[in-house]
Amino acid sequence: MDAAGIALAATGVDIRAAGDGDEVAGVRPRRVALPESAEEIAAVMRACAAHDLAAVATGGRTKLHWGARPERCDVLVDLSRMNRVLEHTAGDLVVRAQAGVTLEALADTLAEAGQELALDVPVPGTTVGGLLATGIAGPRRFRYGTARDLLIGVTVVLADGTIARSGGKVVKNVAGYDLGKLFTGSYGTLGVIADATFRLHPLPAARAWVTATVERPVTRTERVMSAADILLTAVPAVTESPLEPSAVEIDWPDVDGPCTLAVLVEGAAATERAKALCELLGEPMGGTAEVTEEPPPWWNRLPSPDDDTLLELRIEVSSLPHMLPALREAAHASGARPAICGSLAAGTLHIGLRGLPNEIAGFVGLARDDAEGMYGGRVVVLAAPWEAARRLDPWGRVGALPLMRRVKERFDPGRRLSPGRFVGGI
Ligand SMILES: Cc1cc2nc3c(=O)[nH]c(=O)nc-3n(C[C@H](O)[C@H](O)[C@H](O)COP(=O)(O)OP(=O)(O)OC[C@H]3O[C@@H](n4cnc5c(N)ncnc54)[C@H](O)[C@@H]3O)c2cc1C
Repeated sequence: MDAAGIALAATGVDIRAAGDGDEVAGVRPRRVALPESAEEIAAVMRACAAHDLAAVATGGRTKLHWGARPERCDVLVDLSRMNRVLEHTAGDLVVRAQAGVTLEALADTLAEAGQELALDVPVPGTTVGGLLATGIAGPRRFRYGTARDLLIGVTVVLADGTIARSGGKVVKNVAGYDLGKLFTGSYGTLGVIADATFRLHPLPAARAWVTATVERPVTRTERVMSAADILLTAVPAVTESPLEPSAVEIDWPDVDGPCTLAVLVEGAAATERAKALCELLGEPMGGTAEVTEEPPPWWNRLPSPDDDTLLELRIEVSSLPHMLPALREAAHASGARPAICGSLAAGTLHIGLRGLPNEIAGFVGLARDDAEGMYGGRVVVLAAPWEAARRLDPWGRVGALPLMRRVKERFDPGRRLSPGRFVGGI
């Protein structure tokens, strides 16, 4: 065994040779470490530091292909054994869970006390650590905020093996940084998340959805009222009503076809409030609104399978009436076929994209010209097949890049944590 292997074995952490299925965006690590505590992660990080090994953390492995390819990856730090809910203080509506706990397991534990982490449970197997590291959020962000807003404390292990905690009982503070905010969406490039503490909510007594479909096409030029106009008249009417919706989502699987709006209402008298919303939506949506007790099949789902290109568009809600037709025009001009869904009320849409690599690159360029050039929004490529990915800048224009580089330099000066996976090659 080489010196690095001996050092890793000496940590006492379970280490195995990497095999099929351990690749990170096509890069195969040499070894997989299976720590069971923050202290064990720290021991692995110290061995990595001593032998200049690059480490990538992983949870449920559902999104290891998101983000750029790591420049190198020697050790995959697999958190699946860190799957314990450490503390649930139901009276204070607070839970602390290890990073490898799946959201399903967490939901089961919390449900016993009639509580929930008010984030939508995404694909099976998603872990607390992966959810924070990828930083995407589902429909209920409109009411409860994102994981970042519900996070009140986090324990992380830095590249040199330091265990740092912010929020709650402080083990070691990294002066001046809000670790939770920094690590959310950092794709494992700043440290390994060991556990997280979240604010909880009572499980709602009932849920109801209002769905309505706009048949007319979206266009910027037609003088008839377009679907974009209709949606954008309907949405403020819904969000500003006293009926308190928790989410307002759209599903627009084909930009030349119909577009569906769905609104979630939770809590006391959910069905009655949904019926009132249905009336509110009745006229603008052409009388198609209906109340259901189950979500539509596309609810809380990304718009495309894993082998498609996936974009995230973030934009001011007030710019959506311009942006939706612009996306349709970008599709026509580029030849790419987008499927769009996401939160109208929060201004975050996900776009699944099919087409030839040059069509996809064309669409991304046009969408960025509009979103970034005209409306101050952002278009990020979350995932793309390799042929398309090599023609794309995944992150687009990032104003804070110099600051992000300084933060990376402070946390991981040796560039050993998921090197190259994030904005600007961080
Ligand atoms: C509301 C919502 C809806 C979603 N809907 C869908 C959907 O419909 N379809 C779909 O395919 N996906 C969906 N997702 C994305 C899905 O939740 C991802 O699977 C998840 O974010 C990644 O979790 P994971 O445990 O599998 O992480 P992994 O795939 O293991 O890792 C993902 C990234 O996080 C990093 N990472 C993982 N754990 C840690 C850690 N402990 N410390 C530091 N970095 C770490 C990894 O290095 C990697 O960069 C949705 C997400 C949300 C929040």
